[in-house]
Amino acid sequence: MKEALLEAVTAIAAAMATRSERGRVADYIPELARVDPDHFGIAVVDADGDVAVAGDADAPFSIQSVSKVFALTLALGKIGDGLWRRVGREPSGNAFNSITQLEYEKGIPRNPFINAGALVVTDAILSGHTPKVALGEILRFLHFVADDETIFIDDKVAKSEQDTGFRNAALANYLRAFENLRNPVEMVLGVYFHHCAIAMSCRQLAMAGRYLAFGGRHPTAGGRVVSSERAKRINALMLTCGHYDGSGDFAFRVGIPAKSGVGGGILGVVPGKASIAVWSPGLDGQGNSLLGSEALEILSRRMGWSIFGD
Ligand code: GLU
Repeated sequence: MKEALLEAVTAIAAAMATRSERGRVADYIPELARVDPDHFGIAVVDADGDVAVAGDADAPFSIQSVSKVFALTLALGKIGDGLWRRVGREPSGNAFNSITQLEYEKGIPRNPFINAGALVVTDAILSGHTPKVALGEILRFLHFVADDETIFIDDKVAKSEQDTGFRNAALANYLRAFENLRNPVEMVLGVYFHHCAIAMSCRQLAMAGRYLAFGGRHPTAGGRVVSSERAKRINALMLTCGHYDGSGDFAFRVGIPAKSGVGGGILGVVPGKASIAVWSPGLDGQGNSLLGSEALEILSRRMGWSIFGD
């Protein structure tokens, strides 16, 4: 299996390097528009802790919405299932930054992975803290689950989004009007933009996802990050909501829980078997990495990793 896995990731990286149709790099955040679309990286950590990597697996990229998985884990740890009174658990079927959907649903975002939902999650983490302390908590959590203290926030990306994030500001103000934000709008936005601006490599991201792949446990530190029940539920949300309005298609093609970000990264979880991260900056029409999705489709087929059967 180890050789098969290494062969698979190597072949996938080689195949992706030849693709000329690579999708479009996100340009609504100016700093992300500067990223070279030719990058491709992949990293897989298996149940023994062995890591298979290929391509640009050690280059840091902006994890963007993948950070929403870690923010959700922290918010659930802090306020527990009470969070579900403020955020739903249904796929959205709408764009990740839809304003009409929020109006329609009276300020209760469909799920924690669309932007409105992640703003409520961020608000929950922020309560009782200053923005700086809240961000420190998120970053420390990542250092712990990834076993890597070099993970950092890219302040240039955060500022770039802060300068242009009018749509997220609209969503946050709207949530506040429905009393579903408890902290000042600017503070919630500041923490949100900064956790989206965390930079990680595929290797670091795959390491960080281990607690979701392996029943909530921290494989090297021992003990639990979350209960197995909670890990299962976060995985369920990743499967149903992790790719915005492309979630159904991703489940159909790839068949594993995964969360994408507009930086072109995807974290994928094969329960009991592997934690996977891929990165290719070009996006498809729904804002998901074009080649990253294809790479996961090939990997899941080759390894027989779809959760729906091999
Ligand atoms: N920071 C991005 C935004 O709010 C995250 C979106 C994403 O990665 O899908 O627009």
